[in-house]
Amino acid sequence: MAGLYIHIPFCEKKCIYCSFYSIETIEGKGRFLSAVVREIDMRADALEAAGEAPRLYDTIFFGGGTPSLLSPEEIGSIMAALRRRFTIGDDAEITMECNPGALTAEWLEGYRSLGVNRLSFGVQSFHDDELRFLSRIHTADEARRSIALARSVFENVSLDLIFALPNQTRERWRSNLLEGIRLGTGHISAYSLIFEEGTRLNAMRLAGEVTPAPEDLDADMYEETMSTLAGHGFEQYEVSNYARPGRECRHNIGYWERRSYMAFGPSAHGFLRGAGSQVRWGNISNLSAYLGAVEEGTLPVASSEVLSPQLMIEEIIFLGLRSSGVMLDEFQKIAGIDLADIAAKEIAAYANDGYVLRNGGRLTVTRKGYAFADRIALELISAVERGLPTLMEPRLILPSLTVVASAA
Ligand code: SF4
Repeated sequence: MAGLYIHIPFCEKKCIYCSFYSIETIEGKGRFLSAVVREIDMRADALEAAGEAPRLYDTIFFGGGTPSLLSPEEIGSIMAALRRRFTIGDDAEITMECNPGALTAEWLEGYRSLGVNRLSFGVQSFHDDELRFLSRIHTADEARRSIALARSVFENVSLDLIFALPNQTRERWRSNLLEGIRLGTGHISAYSLIFEEGTRLNAMRLAGEVTPAPEDLDADMYEETMSTLAGHGFEQYEVSNYARPGRECRHNIGYWERRSYMAFGPSAHGFLRGAGSQVRWGNISNLSAYLGAVEEGTLPVASSEVLSPQLMIEEIIFLGLRSSGVMLDEFQKIAGIDLADIAAKEIAAYANDGYVLRNGGRLTVTRKGYAFADRIALELISAVERGLPTLMEPRLILPSLTVVASAA
């Protein structure tokens, strides 16, 4: 099983906290659509030329940017190219990210007729002052109306919400969660506000115009998220993701379980587990340069890396602990030794304190352990480095992981 990701790089307005590649215009939309279709063909040709066995693709994700700025006909032209060149499962999960506000019933019906069966809304808050602070273009009422409309067409609707905003109280955050639940969503992604380098928000922090929420309040709100959502039938299946049973995002699970995914569009990142190697690549993060490369018949790749055993091990531990657990057989296949042996002392200590447990063939964090997943991962990786010095070189950061540990 594998996934397909398409990055739509247009937004009406750049949000102050956003570090994803997008531009505040839809000019050049026609050229972009032609280029994506051409990239789909080029990548399918490249897979065939490399002798890669055909795969079944069971998830498609239109992310961005704001895919819902494209009409059903425009999304349909990309879907047609994907269906022409890749084998897509009959029950594939097909997600589109949407912004509340301008959606109409006609467009929603149009997306559904293309096979889209999951919508993910960037709501972020149900309070107008918080939305203004985040520089979102929609109001809380527009979000409520869009979600109600979407729910009348789609069963599977997800919301993104952000907590730990400056001056936000735990009670206010709880009211955002409760409103999301009340609107009938089956999936909530809840992220703590991050001051990413290069964003306007971070510049405001550096200029002393905003102060991040205190760490203990951030931790309290995380606890509030877990307890409120658990109390309403949501299960946490990743550090920041919660779903009613059966509503988990299969596409994102594919990222965390390190399944292959092809990616198209500027700044899109892909991962291919081929017969002899595992490769990650990233496309050019600039629309003009992306168009130039594709129109010349060149793959628009900015970086690519064949994963060493060390990187695979780091990814297996880091991504696994943040989600459904470290797959111990996969670790053993690469490392040649059981993680439970090589990091026995660390695992026993965290297990005794109730942070991790062995769950079948996986090492998972508990609810208490989720907040510390990254720290536990780093300790386990250090233990592997000490135990396998010929395979692992100590390093302070995990460079290849940033592309798969985030969500729009
Ligand atoms: S957060 Fe979403 S809507 Fe805002 S700029 Fe980023 S991609 Fe666009």
